[in-house]
Amino acid sequence: MTDSAVANAEGRPVSEFIPRLIDALLGVVPAGGVLHEPEFSDTERDYVAECIETGWVSSVGKFVDRFEEMLCETTGAKSAVATVNGTAALHTALHLAGVQPGEEVLVPAFGFVATANAVSQCAALPHFVDVNERTLAVDPPALEKYLADVLDCQDGIAVNRETGRRIRALVVAHILGHPAEMTALLDVASQFGLTVVEDAAESLGGYRDGRHTGTFGLVGALSFNGNKTITTGGGGAVITNDPEIGARAKHLTTTAKKPHAWEFDHDAIGFNYRMPNLNAALGCAQLEKLSGFLARKRVLAERYQAALASIGEVAFVAEPPGTVSSYWLNAILLDPAQEGLRDEIHRLCHARGIMTRSAWKPLHSLQPYAHCPAMPAPVTESLYRRLIKLPSSPHLADVAG
Ligand SMILES: *Cc1c(COP(=O)(O)O)cnc(C)c1O
Repeated sequence: MTDSAVANAEGRPVSEFIPRLIDALLGVVPAGGVLHEPEFSDTERDYVAECIETGWVSSVGKFVDRFEEMLCETTGAKSAVATVNGTAALHTALHLAGVQPGEEVLVPAFGFVATANAVSQCAALPHFVDVNERTLAVDPPALEKYLADVLDCQDGIAVNRETGRRIRALVVAHILGHPAEMTALLDVASQFGLTVVEDAAESLGGYRDGRHTGTFGLVGALSFNGNKTITTGGGGAVITNDPEIGARAKHLTTTAKKPHAWEFDHDAIGFNYRMPNLNAALGCAQLEKLSGFLARKRVLAERYQAALASIGEVAFVAEPPGTVSSYWLNAILLDPAQEGLRDEIHRLCHARGIMTRSAWKPLHSLQPYAHCPAMPAPVTESLYRRLIKLPSSPHLADVAG
């Protein structure tokens, strides 16, 4: 133990559990590990080189088709459409769910800002809802109670009593890779005439009841950003079990161009959201290794959980019962009595080379979203004060634990 572990920036002694926490973390991961970094091998290089050598680098090419087929195999979805990033996939998904300008979409207050941004891109308004501390996702009973209070639902059309706006859809995000309670959430949504869109950007390889996240609702979105479980550089995908929705996703993301040998005719305002072949080449190589990444990430999660078991002031964020998490990011939750020490823990961890991060600021408290309708969100606010994300790259499991 060095001095930096037992004194804060002002030289005051710190809570005795913090040095024990840092030692426990350093028993699992070496100093210097970032939160999540990609891992490549010769396969990625070969596939990308093939794109360059054949000239197929843009949005048409065999790797795009192969990547989409592999995504269907991996997730069990009937259709997968690869896009330029996860936010574009979410925007497309919301569009396919029928979200119209001026409507509201229920969005978890706990999560990455892209979920709310995609709603804004539809010229709709996010209406923030609280989450469950155990799953980190929307809480079915709390949602049901809230909606019964604030919605009028007639002929399957839900209207916010206060704003008069239609509430079209519910976005469920599987946070850090932990699957949400989909069966109960689908139940609540159908009660109120809401279409369910899943943000599975963090949960590739995450299952509930043997079913892959993102395939429960009408349509789901994946992300392959550089820090996600697999990466295509930048990338995402729309997944669905409805072949018609899948076909529309492909059409909309390719500028809604009607197929024709020489005419340019478009039957809708489309998006230029298709994933280029270069990125899909990376994606194919990465997907081939997905089960290995997931297995090593699980080993890392188990090591963290075991190492932290004796520290009563923190709880490891484990996969909810009955689910298989992707363990995209490992995290700990501070005991509420210790939440004032969060930044002190970050400071001391960083000083020892453990690159921890906080949870996202609650979305309803962000300046661009402060005016949006919101359910009281005490769980989201508490999670923000208490959650600490830990280094989670698969290669960290290769260091003897
Ligand atoms: C990463 C992420 C996104 C956005 O994906 P990009 O590919 O970065 O656009 C959306 N939602 C969640 C929950 C994410 O973690």
